[in-house]
Order: sequence, then structure tokens, then C-alpha cells
Amino acid sequence: MNIHEHQAKEILKKFGAPVSKGVVILSIEDINKEITKLNSKKFVLKAQIHAGGRGKAGGVKVIKSISDLESEAKKMMGKILITHQTGPEGKEVKRLYIEEASDISKEFYLSCLIDRETSKIAFISSTEGGMDIEKVASETPDKIITNKIDLSDEGPSTKEIKKIISIFQLNEKQKNIASRLIKSLYEIIIKKDAILIEINPLIITATGELVCLDAKMNFDDNAIFRRPEILALRDLNEEDPAEFEASKFDLAYIKLNGSIGCMVNGAGLAMATMDIIKLYGKEPANFLDVGGGATKEKVAAAFKLILSDKNVKGILINIFGGIMRCDVLAQGVLDAAKEINLTVPLVVRLAGTNFKEGKEILDKSNIKILSASDLNDAAKKIVETIK
Ligand code: GDP
Ligand code: MG
Repeated sequence: MNIHEHQAKEILKKFGAPVSKGVVILSIEDINKEITKLNSKKFVLKAQIHAGGRGKAGGVKVIKSISDLESEAKKMMGKILITHQTGPEGKEVKRLYIEEASDISKEFYLSCLIDRETSKIAFISSTEGGMDIEKVASETPDKIITNKIDLSDEGPSTKEIKKIISIFQLNEKQKNIASRLIKSLYEIIIKKDAILIEINPLIITATGELVCLDAKMNFDDNAIFRRPEILALRDLNEEDPAEFEASKFDLAYIKLNGSIGCMVNGAGLAMATMDIIKLYGKEPANFLDVGGGATKEKVAAAFKLILSDKNVKGILINIFGGIMRCDVLAQGVLDAAKEINLTVPLVVRLAGTNFKEGKEILDKSNIKILSASDLNDAAKKIVETIK
């Protein structure tokens, strides 16, 4: 789960990390009241969307006088920001963060993440902050250092911290603040089940202060049940509505850009189904695993979800009944089809537990269905039909 920059900064602050003072604005009318909480003549206006690269897209503006604040905020609120992380459709700005501006003298990069391969906590530091770290990694890899730390109750040792921050060439006072910051990031990873914290840029101001100027935080979905305070930060505006709907039914659904909706049981079979659709020259509209013990209600919800995608021109149902029973699947599809007007072709391949009963339910119904004997046949049929 992702959270907004202003929320990430709030967490950083609680864990003792240096961040600027700021206020979050959900409506333009709140500006005048909220701004009195800040003590500055210069501000930064920042679009709060779950994507980076806002600076280049006009989502970060330094404002030199309080009188410009409202007009600039009006321009930014409601704007569709397109950055390299939003995809071509962009993201609508629905909240703004106003921060006391900093005078930047240096911009660094610092991140902390779970390294699954080694089961360690990795710290990545670079002198090239404020830009794409991927670009730095490919063009000037010597300007990035990675340090991996064993999990322990004590957290990173003095020696390890020294290594992580060495590349920044800080003075004694800055080193103390940076050491505290490294410990804070480690603590957030452990105590809040974060999987990634990225500070880009971490800056040194004109007066020599160290400040986290941007913050991105990502949390482990599998651990979120034990972090209600993190779950409370979830912003549904930032999530795909279909994926949110799917999560209510505990369906593993990922929206994709193709035209063939897929309803499959089992993640491996779902992947194979997507592959074979591509093999026949079309693209899947989604990944969907209805799971093993799905009820007919869950199947119906899944079917409606697939059809809510306007790009879907045909549906392929591929079920290999194990724990999942084909008759339950058929009944779920039937129930959903009764509620919605099914206008796209449907190819069904059923095999395994109760497949005869399932087929009978579908045959008896008045839904137009193309039966397929195996996966290959199913993919071929759906691709040919929508052509
Ligand atoms: P991102 O583009 O989404 O990563 O947004 P950032 O928060 O990283 O901001 C982008 C850039 O805006 C930073 O790299 C800075 O150069 C600039 N910026 C952000 N905050 C300030 C500030 O307080 N003062 C100044 N002068 N520049 C800022
Ligand atoms: Mg940034």
C-alpha cells in the first residue's frame, strides 16, 4: 500500500527525522486558515498523488509570496498530472501540500528497503539526488552505494551507519542528524511494516541543515492487518476502483490494457491463460484468480468486475475444477449474467470437479456460450470470435 508524501513526512517526523513544516489542503477555501500555522515567506506547493516525477510535470511549485499561493493552488487543484509514473492517463490532483520552502545547497538520494534476496535491509545512498535514481544507476553507478544490514533488535551499528552516509561527506553536526535519520528509517521499516522508504531529495540547506524534502513510503499489504494506523492512511482516490471492488471480495484482480477479459482459478493457470491469449495475437484485459473455494457470489462479483471494463470485447473463462467446483462457477456466471446485459462473446473451458454439472447449467441457460475443449482451443476461439 502506498501513502501520500505528507503522510509519509508525518511518520518520519514521529520517528525523529528532519522534515519541513507543512499543511495539507483538501479544498482551496482551507488555505487561509491553514497557512497561519506556517511561519515562512516562501512556500512550496506540492500536488499529492501516488506518483513521483511531479516536479517535471508541474506538480511542485516554489511560491515566493503568500499572495500568489491561492491562485497557484487553484491552478494545481483538479489538474491531471501526467508523470513517468502515472501512465498516459495521468492522475487528478485532489489534495495539496503546502510546505515552508527550503534553500537548497545540495540534493542527495537516500532509500531504505527490504532486500528479499538476502533477507536484509538495504540502504541506498547517492550524491545525485532530485533525479531518477534509475538513470543514475545506469549512467554513473559509482555515484550510488548500497549497504545491506542484518536484521537485529539494535538496528544498524555505528560502523554500518558511517558506511551508508560516507558518500555525502557531511560535517560532524550533519553526521549526527544523518545517523539519527538512518536509525529512524530502519525503525519505520520494522515497526510499521514498511517495505520501501525513499527520500529523494534529502537536502542540505543553505544554512547547513539536513532535511527530507520528499518522501515516498510503501507498506506490506500482507502485514497491513496489524497496522490499522497505516491502513487508515489509505486514499481510495488513488486506487483503481475495479481493483478496490475486487479487494472487497478477496479476488486477486489486476486491470490490464487488453481486450480479452479472463476469469480463471489459480494464479499459475491465470498466467498461462494470459500467455496463450498473447500467443494468438490479442492482449488480456486483466489478471484474475477467483481462488480455490470461491462461492457463486464471488464468481458473480468477478464476472461483473470483468464486464465493468469498457475495453473488454470478449471473455475467456478457464476453470480447472479442483477445490473449485465447475457447477458453482457456472451458477455464479449465470447469476451475474441475469443482472447485466451480456453483449460480448463468452468462451468457456471447464474441466475437473463437477464439470458435467457445470456444463449442463450453462447449456440450459439462454446465454450464448462457445464451449472449448482445452486451453488452446479456448484462446483460439475467443481471439477469432472478437476479430
Ligand atoms: P517529485 O518530482 O515528485 O520527486 O517531487 P519532489 O518533492 O522531489 O520535488 C521535486 C523538486 O522540486 C526537488 O528535487 C527540488 O529540486 C524542488 N523542490 C522541492 N521542494 C523545494 C523547496 O523547498 N525549495 C526549493 N528551492 N526547491 C524545492
Ligand atoms: Mg522526489
